[in-house]
Amino acid sequence: MAPKTLTAADLGPKETDQAYLCAKCGMCLQVCPTYQLTGREAMCPRGRVQLLRGLLESRLELTDNLRDMIYTCCGCNACYVNCPSGVDVEKLINEARAAMRAKGVELPAGQEAMRSRLADVSNPFGLDRAERAAWLPPELRKPRTAETCLFMGCSISFANNKTGKTILRILEKAGVDFMLLGEEEECCGDPLVRIGETQLAEAMIERNQARFRRYGVRRIVTPCAGCVKSFRRHYGGFESRHLVEWIADLIDEGQIKPRKPVGRKVIYFDGCDMGRQLGIYEPPRRILRAIPGIELIEYDKSREFGQCCGGPLISYDPEMASAVSAQRVAEAAEKGAETIAAACPTCFLNLRSGGQASGQRIDVQDVMALLYRSLKGD
Ligand code: SF4
Ligand code: SF4
Repeated sequence: MAPKTLTAADLGPKETDQAYLCAKCGMCLQVCPTYQLTGREAMCPRGRVQLLRGLLESRLELTDNLRDMIYTCCGCNACYVNCPSGVDVEKLINEARAAMRAKGVELPAGQEAMRSRLADVSNPFGLDRAERAAWLPPELRKPRTAETCLFMGCSISFANNKTGKTILRILEKAGVDFMLLGEEEECCGDPLVRIGETQLAEAMIERNQARFRRYGVRRIVTPCAGCVKSFRRHYGGFESRHLVEWIADLIDEGQIKPRKPVGRKVIYFDGCDMGRQLGIYEPPRRILRAIPGIELIEYDKSREFGQCCGGPLISYDPEMASAVSAQRVAEAAEKGAETIAAACPTCFLNLRSGGQASGQRIDVQDVMALLYRSLKGD
């Protein structure tokens, strides 16, 4: 039977100290997406930290319910930027999850299903490996040696290859050289790290790194924020950039010229990985500002204070994830936006499903789709 506790030795001294930094002031409550949705103390940053302290002090038992409170944290880090004591809840929660898994604690059902799909077919959607590259032009399905690898990521490859095709057309117009891992690409490992599945993640990361080395890759560019975060945190020896950083530079250098007007009032959605984790705030806005006709507006809470779309909850409870994103869609509509522009494929998918599930008629687009509209026919 799985051990039902967590000790300071399991968590490590740094994270244990983090748990004791919390002054219980409550400054983090109103920015936490799961607290906004439920109003439950156990589902806010302060509550989660207190639950961990209860475990460390043997006052609480590691029940399935307590475990689920730890697994409903989105890792959005909105609490961190609002915390006067500097409690890094995302890191603390990730370490707690890894410690739980190392002790044999079972995952919640949804996350166990995702783990199993990643172990079986190397993508969180559970789709056949062959589908990853089936939509690519034949010449891009197999890797070749090149300095720049365009790493598509699972969300674009399996759930949104329309955007993937758009990206390829934009890069073709720019005349730049790159390769894809294509049939050989597999998940970057980020979803596994998030649920504490360290060993499986490390094996996946090592296989991807070996492929990058085999094909002489020095620079990885990807449209997925989670992938960039994973490359920067867990991969060594490669430069990594988000696609919007590359495209914004290509526009500045005149290799991409948006000319056709796209008459839309657009609000840019700062995803948590794009923003707080990677600090990529300006490049997507530079692209949108370069498109004639776009009126760019801002959320009341934007950049480092941007609010989570709930995407990381998809594997735990898709309805909860949709309910969080519906709030972000409603806030965009209140600002008078006609289109929400996202640069993270998980945010894109979750904002779309939240808008649809709540019956809100607002257009959600990837930044690349808006850019391509301005290039068509050139
Ligand atoms: S990281 Fe996000 S979801 Fe997790 S406790 Fe902090 S604000 Fe809430
Ligand atoms: S803001 Fe920081 S110190 Fe205050 S309750 Fe939240 S986690 Fe604790």
